Amino acid sequence: MWRAAEESLPPLPYGLSQIGEAEARLQRFAPLLAQIFPELQASGGSIESPLLPVPNWAGETFGSSVRDNGSFWLKADHQLPVAGSIKARGGIYAVLCFAEKIALEISLLQVGDNYACFQAPAFRRLFERYELSVGSTGNLGLSIGMMGAALGFRVTVHMSSDAKEWKMERLRRHGAQVIQHSLDYTSACAIAREQSKGNPFAYFIDDENSVDLLMGYAAAVPGLRQQFQQAGIIVDAEHPLFLYLPCGVGGAPGGITLAARLVFGDHAHCFFAEPTEAPCMLFGLLTGRHEAASVSELGHNCQTDADGLAVGRPSGLVGRLVNELVSGCLTVHDDELYAALWDLEQLEKISVEPSAAAGCLGPELLISTPEGQGYLRDHGLNNNLPRANHVIWTTGGSLVPAEQQEVFRQKAAAIRVSREMVEKEKRQPDLLESGSGQ
Ligand SMILES: *Cc1c(COP(=O)(O)O)cnc(C)c1O
Repeated sequence: MWRAAEESLPPLPYGLSQIGEAEARLQRFAPLLAQIFPELQASGGSIESPLLPVPNWAGETFGSSVRDNGSFWLKADHQLPVAGSIKARGGIYAVLCFAEKIALEISLLQVGDNYACFQAPAFRRLFERYELSVGSTGNLGLSIGMMGAALGFRVTVHMSSDAKEWKMERLRRHGAQVIQHSLDYTSACAIAREQSKGNPFAYFIDDENSVDLLMGYAAAVPGLRQQFQQAGIIVDAEHPLFLYLPCGVGGAPGGITLAARLVFGDHAHCFFAEPTEAPCMLFGLLTGRHEAASVSELGHNCQTDADGLAVGRPSGLVGRLVNELVSGCLTVHDDELYAALWDLEQLEKISVEPSAAAGCLGPELLISTPEGQGYLRDHGLNNNLPRANHVIWTTGGSLVPAEQQEVFRQKAAAIRVSREMVEKEKRQPDLLESGSGQ
């Protein structure tokens, strides 16, 4: 249940200082990252995505009642370098935290050192002794695999049955061990957690419980604030900010929501978007049972093409943290994901994976449904809505191989055709009725 920042934030264990720490750590590592990954040279090792205006898309896909109620932007994490998804924030940051910690512990690294030293043989010899492991539906594995292998860690990724073949292939190519389970995401995580237990040289990066991951995601918000300043975007009572965040286990949207409320207070309104078949965070928050709540109790089996969001149980860490910070959850049918994916491609030449399109329906649902209107009314937002900024966080897609993107495109096209037929059929009876009245 949403509460004002002055009540909800002070009791939390994390504040602006933790987010500042995460930013500072990423800055320390930036020169090293620029050396390791050629695609980061231009940005000096900073892992950042653009904020893109999407006037064509908003103009065409929304009716005037939505369109006239704010400006519409994409936070284009689908373009994040190295891992091609929002996981490049959390996953890479979590690996860097661990690498820094073990190097400091044995005094191989001193505070204040130039982090270019991480490429020295002594560091690689240290990291080779450790095995990083992670459970993933695909993208987290990619991010941790790319970063871990680049530093010299041995990496094992336990993939759930949803994982796409190309993600596993790419990881193997970069030297990670990939184990595909015919199990869902929660079970793949459980196996990874179990196997690393008791081994001092195994480190399990726990998507469901990692504060490092959360802080890596949270560090996106100071960068976003800078982009707002550059674009002349104001966030205050007269200019509310709406964020629409695709949600799987909850780490990415949770970290961003925490930071957005810390930075923008009550002027940031954060909504989580989940597939209709995997609404785990919604269910966990509603029941207050968090990680104990499984969507299987609702008869859902996580069957969705939004592989990054195909999660049946939410993170309890995140659920408890964002309980009073988040404005609401919305669910999106796969057909709607494909329709949004199609529209973004046609109208803005932007290609995303299905998971990344989940936030696209947010503005429509907020402005046009009774539930959304209730939120706007309760928070006194109606008068200021035309000056609002709506930011749809597109979370993955730039590494999707062309053949796979073509499969998405064809599926989207087929859905459009069948929708148009349904629309036509709906119109038919009207014609008959008016005909028979003559
Ligand atoms: C993982 C992922 C998310 C959601 O992140 P969680 O931390 O699992 O909630 C959203 N979009 C994409 C493309 C992802 O891979």
